[in-house]
Amino acid sequence: MPAAVPSPGPQTPQAYDTEFTLQLEKLRELLGTYLKTEDIERVAAAFLFSAEAHRGQFRISGDPYFSHPLAVTGILTGWHLDAQALMAALLHDVAEDTEITLAEIGEKFGKVTAELVDGVSKLDKIEFQSIEDAQAENFRKMLLAMARDVRVILIKLADRLHNMRTLDTLRPDKRRRIARETLEIYAPIANRLGLNNLYRELQELAFRHVYPMRYRVLAKAIKAARGNRREVVSKILQAIKARMNEATIEAEVMGREKHLFGIYRKMRGKSLSFSQVLDIYGFRVIVKDVPTCYLALGALHSLYKPVPGKFKDYLAIPKGNGYQSLHTTLIGPFGTPVEVQIRTTEMHHVAEAGVASHWLYKDDKSLSELQQRTHKWLQSLLELQSASGDSAEFLEHLKIDLFPGEVYVFTPKGKILPLPRGSTAVDFAYAVHTDIGNRCVACRINHELMPLRTELRNGDQVEIITAAHANPNPAWLSYVKTGKARSQIRHFLKTMQHEESAALGERLLAQALRPFEFTEGITDAVWDKFVLECGAKSKKEVLTDIGLGKRLPAIVARRLAAGIEMGEMTGEPKPQGPILIRGTEGMAVQLAHCCRPIPGDPIVGIIKKGQGLVVHLADCPSITLRGRGERAKWVDVEWERDSGRLFEVAIKIEAENRRGVLAKIAAEISEAGSNIQHVTMDDEHGIYTSLYFTLQVSNRVHLARILRALRHIPEVVRISRVRE
Ligand code: MN
Repeated sequence: MPAAVPSPGPQTPQAYDTEFTLQLEKLRELLGTYLKTEDIERVAAAFLFSAEAHRGQFRISGDPYFSHPLAVTGILTGWHLDAQALMAALLHDVAEDTEITLAEIGEKFGKVTAELVDGVSKLDKIEFQSIEDAQAENFRKMLLAMARDVRVILIKLADRLHNMRTLDTLRPDKRRRIARETLEIYAPIANRLGLNNLYRELQELAFRHVYPMRYRVLAKAIKAARGNRREVVSKILQAIKARMNEATIEAEVMGREKHLFGIYRKMRGKSLSFSQVLDIYGFRVIVKDVPTCYLALGALHSLYKPVPGKFKDYLAIPKGNGYQSLHTTLIGPFGTPVEVQIRTTEMHHVAEAGVASHWLYKDDKSLSELQQRTHKWLQSLLELQSASGDSAEFLEHLKIDLFPGEVYVFTPKGKILPLPRGSTAVDFAYAVHTDIGNRCVACRINHELMPLRTELRNGDQVEIITAAHANPNPAWLSYVKTGKARSQIRHFLKTMQHEESAALGERLLAQALRPFEFTEGITDAVWDKFVLECGAKSKKEVLTDIGLGKRLPAIVARRLAAGIEMGEMTGEPKPQGPILIRGTEGMAVQLAHCCRPIPGDPIVGIIKKGQGLVVHLADCPSITLRGRGERAKWVDVEWERDSGRLFEVAIKIEAENRRGVLAKIAAEISEAGSNIQHVTMDDEHGIYTSLYFTLQVSNRVHLARILRALRHIPEVVRISRVRE
């Protein structure tokens, strides 16, 4: 006979039905204690639906697959979850593992249930990779943020608990990975939600699988110690109670055993051996008011000696989340350290649940109905939790996590970055590295090419595509969210403008110096003297100032020349040669928007303060209308031959208002080798219509060729270049 295989569960359809009919009866009974009849019926319907969908599927253990969602649901009934959550728990693997779709679930069991199922499967899909502490924290926050509805997290936690309870059937490596993830991600989340029993069970189960040897040794040692110490503990408990009585302090005194993983952590954290970690028991004293807390403390300190430096007063200075208590450690009988927490009944309530109210009545009045309901339910859940622990802390985090101002996204290597809500791919690029930000040109979000301005969502995987010569775009400033991206973009643009202005300044100065006909350049000594005299920091600053129009090149030239010629000026300045404009100078040279000059046009330059050189058409009305005084700032400019770039030009076309005329014009323009950047149309319904185009051309000849082609279109009546 071959070795026995794990029981494949009910072998026949009949056995399957019998088994789960029985289970359904049990569930109905359980739900009868807290749900309405109609809700029980809805849950029962989901039960039958899921059992049917999973028919024929088995777990690795050999159990029918449906036993898993059923067990998860069982855990959730222990927390008194509502019908929607229970239905979602029953159906949580249906959409993933069977033919049934989310839409079908929505139709049969309601939109909310389908959303919960969807939420759970989304959490299943993201995988935790890094084990750094900070990353684990981000991952936890990401899960909470993604869940949106806290019920999703609870279903997920119950799912994890059942998987942990049945972990033995998996391969050891898989077991360790899941256990580690449980320890680092899910147990802390359970802790924050105040689910103390779950927290402990997850930790103990995970500990056993991650460190099987240590677990066994420690469990044995504790078992032995428990036997020895039971007497000691009850002695301490009695002694504390007696002392409270003597001091006529009305107090509730409780003792609790610390759990195995907590003891292990303490040993590891402080490098202690087990025999040194004696405080496997903690005590709690609950009294009626604050003065009594201090009285109780005094009474305790007179009973046993306190350990110096171990006393913490969270009464006077509450923790950030409102948690209040006195913590002290005493030296008990036989030198056993005894940890005691002292607090009022009210503080105890806050520590367990009460902080929820300060979250609800926060100034934000716009909590949705769902959030309100979730909150109320959470509160009632907390009241069910009688176990101890610093559960106050969780609410502080929950407040942030369920309605977060942050999103959590993955780098291609699986690292998680937290960003403010509304952040875009550009913010992400700068968060990774300034160089990545400065060089980014495109991005892939979840492996799809997306615009850089795309807003990121929780769990997105973002990959930035860079190009060696790319530069930040000023338009990014309109949508980046993070201060880092904003300041880096600004910084880059400013530096770039300075570089370009300095280069322009140098050319303007060279032009202004030409009449003085130096055989040699200007020496460093002359420059140094000039820089000193005019109060600038450097030669570069002077050049930048010229480029930005803050200093006039002619004056700087004259003074530099004076420096060389020891105050003597030779003759009349000779005519200056023009500055050559390529149109590719960057921000230092701007082509005026009013007239949009293109190569071939007669042009004139004007140095504008803070803007550098602005190039206009020679007959642009906006400059000819200005007074003579302005002329001092005019600069002779000429086009350099073939710069290779394209220039924008605006034209107006009047044409007969016929169907298809726009298409004809567009075709001609494209035929002539130009791009249309923009087009608008007069909204007239007459015989003629006006069309305004912004085109890209390389020069005046190119434009002339386009216009000629357009005139051949019969419908076109008149064409003119637009200049304001
Ligand atoms: Mn599951």
